[in-house]
Amino acid sequence: MITKDKFHIGGRWVAPAGSGSIDVHAPADGALLARIPQGAKADADAAVAAARQAFDAWAATSPAERGEYLKKIHDGLKARGEEIARTITFEMGMPYKLSLRVQVGSPTATFGMYARMAGDFAFEEQVGHSKVLREPVGVVVAITPWNYPLHQIAAKVAAAMAAGCTLVLKPSEVAPLNAFALAEIIADAGVPPGVFNLVTGYGPEIGEALVTHPDVDMVSFTGSTAAGKRIAQLAAATVKRVALELGGKSASIVLDDADFGVAIKAVVNNGYLNSGQTCTAQTRLLVPARRFDEAAALAVAAARGFRLGDPMDPATTLGPLASKAQQERVQGYIRQAQAAGCQLLTGGADLPEGVNPAGYFVAPTVFGPVDPQAAIAQEEIFGPVLSIIPYRDEDDAVGIANGTVYGLSGGVWSASDAHAENVARRLRTGQVDINGGPYNIMAPFGGYKQSGNGRELGKYGLEDFLEYKAMQFRPPKA
Ligand code: NAD
Repeated sequence: MITKDKFHIGGRWVAPAGSGSIDVHAPADGALLARIPQGAKADADAAVAAARQAFDAWAATSPAERGEYLKKIHDGLKARGEEIARTITFEMGMPYKLSLRVQVGSPTATFGMYARMAGDFAFEEQVGHSKVLREPVGVVVAITPWNYPLHQIAAKVAAAMAAGCTLVLKPSEVAPLNAFALAEIIADAGVPPGVFNLVTGYGPEIGEALVTHPDVDMVSFTGSTAAGKRIAQLAAATVKRVALELGGKSASIVLDDADFGVAIKAVVNNGYLNSGQTCTAQTRLLVPARRFDEAAALAVAAARGFRLGDPMDPATTLGPLASKAQQERVQGYIRQAQAAGCQLLTGGADLPEGVNPAGYFVAPTVFGPVDPQAAIAQEEIFGPVLSIIPYRDEDDAVGIANGTVYGLSGGVWSASDAHAENVARRLRTGQVDINGGPYNIMAPFGGYKQSGNGRELGKYGLEDFLEYKAMQFRPPKA
């Protein structure tokens, strides 16, 4: 078992104020994997004080210098990539090969991107007789979830550091070990003390102490919509800037002229990536009503093609869910859908065959035809559960796709990119994949509606951590 008993505050590993701890379990077999400190208000105060103290000097460094530190962090992540991928596989269950590519590849690339961008970004511009500066917003609290733990941390930490902000990170208590590895790498990179601080604990305890702290200028949060709403309310008391990356219930519209074989397999793969624990997961598959049976057969075949098992086994393509609570939540949704009369096409709430029964596994599950208003078609399940929803025509498809409180992502499939784009333009979501167009870390990432506000990644993510300052000069005499 791994024991972490110190926080990284002000450039040093320091003992927490209290003695509470949190157990971290391995989702593959439920075993006790690690123990981390359960931080409290005094730890939040110490971390914020360190970040505050470091702010003026860090904000005064040149962007290019900050870029050099980010490059060193990128190199450190690269050097420890395999070890960190294993850690993330152990703590949250994604198959190792995928972890290496996604859970480590993406954050490494994000640090590399901001290393380059820091030196190139236009932090000043002239607007008439005003000089407009882009200055760091100040001390940032970053609160992150467990599903892509290091990726979500990197999107905040790399961008905020590039902007000239100092930070306190509170990672998810479900998958926190990767954050300790990052803190070591940041320390090894020689980043000045207090620029990056790490504390751990429960959201309602140390999380809320950070969010309400008067010396914090901004909270950047990724997680559930419920926690995001609570954080926005708490942060309003001190008028903090709040960036929220929340849940989703994304739809993929397969148009009548699409290649169904290609499109439906890709939508199932997208929906089940990371066992469905992806905020952009396209878990609503919208198909023309008269071709429902054809689409359902393809989706069921794709779902049954996954191989569940130990995430360290190279043959495994679908790992367990990240926690017992998540497994039970997903099983609850499946049972409730069946009780409400939704047609189960494959999978179900029972433990799948051939897996370790102590692991947090859920079978790849497909329901259809599903009423667009059904709970499984409206609420984020965060598990491998796909709802196939028939539509009458394109207007109906757009209405169904836009008919939830969320607006994070989506997809459109057609024989022609132009046809798909016309439909994609009508979707009220922060991103849309056209015919399976891949993820792009240079593009803005974030949601409309109750999927959040603000944008991460690319130059848009950097801008989220900047204030504007306008300096008016006397215009030259005519
Ligand atoms: P969660 O909201 O329970 O927890 C996320 C983080 O917030 C954790 O670090 C937790 O300790 C902290 N937290 C919880 N309550 C808090 C409070 N009152 N004050 C301060 N901090 C608090 O979410 P989770 O279960 O870890 O993650 C799953 C959810 O996150 C899903 O709903 C998913 O859609 C969403 N998510 C969204 C995105 C996105 O970018 N839009 C990305 C990943 C996950």
